[in-house]
Formats: sequence, structure tokens, C-alpha cells
Amino acid sequence: MEQRATPTGIKVIIVGAGFAGLTAAIECYRKGHDVVLLESFPVLKPLGDIISFGPNAGRIVARWGNGSVVEQIYPISIKNKELKFFKYDGDFITAQQVPPQNPVTPFLNGHRGEIHEIVFNHAQKIGIDIRLGCRVLEYLEEEGRAGVRVNGETIWGDVVIGSDGVRSKARELVLGYTDKPKSSGYAIYRAWFDSEPLLKDPLTKHLVENGDTHTGWLGPEVHFLAASLKGGKDFSWVVTHKDEADIEESWSLPGKIEDALKVIDGWDPVVRRIVELTPECVDWKLVYRDPLPTWVSKGGRTCLAGDAAHPFLPTSIQGASQAMEDGCVLAACLQIGGKDNVPTAVRAYEKIRYGRCRRAQLLGEETRDMWHKADFDKVKEDPEKIKLKREDWLFLHDCEANTYEVYDDVAKELNGQVTSDAEQPIPRQTAVSA
Ligand SMILES: Cc1cc2nc3c(=O)[nH]c(=O)nc-3n(C[C@H](O)[C@H](O)[C@H](O)COP(=O)(O)OP(=O)(O)OC[C@H]3O[C@@H](n4cnc5c(N)ncnc54)[C@H](O)[C@@H]3O)c2cc1C
Repeated sequence: MEQRATPTGIKVIIVGAGFAGLTAAIECYRKGHDVVLLESFPVLKPLGDIISFGPNAGRIVARWGNGSVVEQIYPISIKNKELKFFKYDGDFITAQQVPPQNPVTPFLNGHRGEIHEIVFNHAQKIGIDIRLGCRVLEYLEEEGRAGVRVNGETIWGDVVIGSDGVRSKARELVLGYTDKPKSSGYAIYRAWFDSEPLLKDPLTKHLVENGDTHTGWLGPEVHFLAASLKGGKDFSWVVTHKDEADIEESWSLPGKIEDALKVIDGWDPVVRRIVELTPECVDWKLVYRDPLPTWVSKGGRTCLAGDAAHPFLPTSIQGASQAMEDGCVLAACLQIGGKDNVPTAVRAYEKIRYGRCRRAQLLGEETRDMWHKADFDKVKEDPEKIKLKREDWLFLHDCEANTYEVYDDVAKELNGQVTSDAEQPIPRQTAVSA
């Protein structure tokens, strides 16, 4: 089912079974570590709507179960050939071609809950100790070990990975303070539904009648992205817009269709009809968080991964991919470092990941600004200006191979240091889902 390296004797406690935690768990298993994965949800639910994994993450998933995990995701993943862009009033701008799929580095884009279920089931099948209904209330660390308090029990290990999402509790131990989110000035209405009503409507049927499509409409401070998937049977849209509200409770709240319609007042009738025909939507607020000064505790045995470490803007289209890279790199660092060098391995993980991740985060701000502040006269002359960047440094990166290549040098450098220090520049803020 899954190839496993020689056992390392390293016990890894992972908190949170999102894509960061599940990837860390599967990769730690593959690298020979012992894993306990704790998740607060009492049962698995297919939550969310559209999510994307770039080829840099597809490469990680493609190795699991001899390709069987990707084989399960392919049928539910989008198969569009191009991404069409329109100005908000309906003027066609350009079509960006989608490169053909590569089985080694597949691009995966589909329903978050459905993809999550496939990855979760794989982790369970290979025998990872996943414990649902386990909300970690406290993180502990002392000389030579780290642990968590959960359901009245204390569990100790060699290392704890806090992959507990945007409202991470692990962050408190790592940083030594609670960092509060701030309003970003943006929010997203988003929806996923059966495309039947769109097929019946002459204005929208072209979006779903011939299989999968991906379309964007761009306006001042607003963009609308729509996708049809599963041969056009399912439909998803997101509209990012200005919003000053502040929330902390949930990643999403119920939204109102009439509020979403206000955001696209005067837009292309096709966009308006899509929203009018949508049964329900959610309201996903975006809040700012400063990039964290470090992802690793002073003792080096507790670290952050995924959204807990580095929240992403949706326009980066890399949040889940970078969460996967974290898990993969961390597992490899622990394997190379071995049981006697866990703190160095964990600090090496941070050093290898921090700068790359920050660069990917900033791409999200660039894309948002490129779309929201587009000068359409200039875009008409040069439509390349609004196309999504598909950069080789991001997409062609093999994070596992790179870790094996650079680990020794990174560890040597770190061993001259007393405590972990993220040495990369920490400029601007980054917006995240609240
Ligand atoms: C329910 C849900 C729906 C989402 N839907 C979308 C979507 O439609 N589109 C999209 O782009 N992104 C979505 N996201 C966000 C996206 O999954 C992440 O941004 C990205 O995949 C990074 O994943 P992560 O594992 O770091 O964080 P998350 O996916 O947020 O996972 C964190 C996990 O940690 C668990 N957890 C938190 N605190 C504790 C604790 N104290 N003890 C134990 N477990 C804990 C949470 O229950 C969660 O399962 C969603 C996230 C969630 C949780």
C-alpha cells in the first residue's frame, strides 16, 4: 500500500488532520517515524468547496500508494483546457491555456471535502493512528520531549507538529504570545452546487454543457471566478470583494445571495445569472496576520505547519500546496537528522521552508493587485498582464529531493546557532481566511 523506510524510532504527534497534518502523517509514516494524528472533529465531513493543488504538491500526492491516491482524485478534478478572462462588463480579454497533465506532477483542483476524504482514507488505510474527537487544549515541552494534553490525557513524543489551522493553539507555545488577526478589507462569497439550473438557462448553459470550464471576470477591487467540474455537472464560484467586517469564529459563515448580487451590480448578465441561480453561498472573511517570526519553539521540539505557520491569500492558489510541502520536508528532515537530532531537524525544516513559502505567499498579493487594479486599456494591448503566473521555481520544485540535497549544509549552519531564527526578510502582511 505504501513504501516505508527503515524505522527511525522517532515519535511524532501531529495536531490537526487538514492537508498539512495528513501530509505530515503520511510522509512521516513513509519515512519510518511513528505517528499519532489528533483531530478535534469527531467525524470526517466533506466540508468546503473548491481547492487547488499545484504541480509542486501534486508531485507529493503522486508518490502515495503507488499513484493510487492521484488516480482517485483525477476523476473529480477539473479538466478544463483554458482559463478564460473577461472584463466585469462581459468584454472578452484573453484565454490562458492550461498545460497538459503530467502524471509525475499533476495539477489537482476539485472539491476540498472530497479530496480531503480521499487523502484521509489513504492515511487510515496504511494504518496511521488517527484519533478523531481529540481537541488539543495544551501544548507542552521539556528537555528531550514534547507533548499535548487532550481528553484529560498527556501524550508525549519526540516532536509535536501543530498543523491546527489559522486559529492555531500551538502558535501560543511557539511564539510565547497570542497573535490576533486583523481586518484585511476583503471577503469572499463562495458556492458549490449542482449545475442543472445553469444548464437550463440560455445565458449560462455554455458554461456547463460541454464539460469542464474555468472563467474569470475582473473588476475594480472585485474578481469573480467560476468553474464547472465533473464533466460540467458541478459548479463552483468565488467572488472576492472589499469588506471591512472582522470575524474570528469560523472559516466561513452562511452568506446571502442578495449581498453577493450587490457586489456585482452592473456586471456581465452571465455572472449575475450564475449568482441568481445559486441555491446558497457562504461568506468567507479574510483577515490579516503578520508573517510569524518563527515556526519553531525555543526547545526545537514543537513546530507549526500549514495555515498555522503561514496563512495564504486565495489568489496565491498555493495555501494547500505549501501546507503539503511542509509535511513532506519536515518528515524528510526528521529522517535525515535521526532521533538524536530532532531539534536541529525541526529548525532545518523551518530554514528550508520559510523563504520559499513567503515568496509563494507574496504571489497571492501580486495576483490580487494585478486583477483588482487592472488598467483595462493597457490589458487590451497586452492581455498577458492579467494571466496567472505559472513560475518554474514554484511549480517544478521537488521539495523532498531538495531536502535530501540541502539538509547537511543547513544543519551544519544551524549547529553554530543557539536558538532557531527565521533569517528570511519578513516584509508585508498576509491575508488569511478568518
Ligand atoms: C472545514 C474547512 C473547510 C475548508 N474549505 C476550504 C475551501 O473550500 N477552499 C479552500 O481553498 N480552503 C478551504 N479550507 C482551508 C484549507 O483547507 C487550508 O487553507 C489549507 O488546506 C491548509 O490546510 P491546514 O491543514 O494547514 O489547515 P486546515 O485545513 O484548517 O486544518 C486544520 C485542522 O486542525 C484541526 N484543529 C484545529 N485546532 C485543533 C485542536 N486544538 N486540536 C485538534 N485539532 C485541531 C481542525 O479541525 C482542522 O481539521 C478549509 C478549511 C477547513 C478546516
